[in-house]
Amino acid sequence: MSKTLLIIKPDATERNLIGHVINRLEKARFTVADIRMVHLTDQQARKFYAVHEGKPFLDSLVAFMTSGRVVPMLLEKDNAVEDLRALIGATNPEKAACGTIRDEIGRDIEKNSVHASDSDENAATEIGFFFGPDAI
Ligand code: ADP
Ligand code: MG
Repeated sequence: MSKTLLIIKPDATERNLIGHVINRLEKARFTVADIRMVHLTDQQARKFYAVHEGKPFLDSLVAFMTSGRVVPMLLEKDNAVEDLRALIGATNPEKAACGTIRDEIGRDIEKNSVHASDSDENAATEIGFFFGPDAI
């Protein structure tokens, strides 16, 4: 069993798609091991997205991610990181493979409904950010 982090982003929580996303995850045999609902501050969002420091989209991304409630969750599955990235699809919903979560509910390249960790190393950092060091 390995772990990863998924966040349901504000564009999805505001459309009442929390249950829908969890249903997709559970159907794909992910186990929700922990879950929270938070409204991130500017400082928290900047810290979470520190890897994107200097990118042209960062300020807009932080504004979006602090615009409403988000639902971070700790997911468990064999090959969790890779399998979750495959399930959510490409960053840009227009390019996301048919049937992926971003293809299905993503609005645009920024408001793409879900975040997923992109490596085991980043998953550990991101899980620690929301659920503390004991969750890693
Ligand atoms: P991913 O979420 O697929 O790992 P990135 O790590 O590259 O993608 O980017 C983090 C988030 O920043 C994306 O999910 C999206 O919300 C936003 N983003 C990425 N690229 C762009 C872009 N070119 N324009 C606007 N927002 C972007
Ligand atoms: Mg990323």
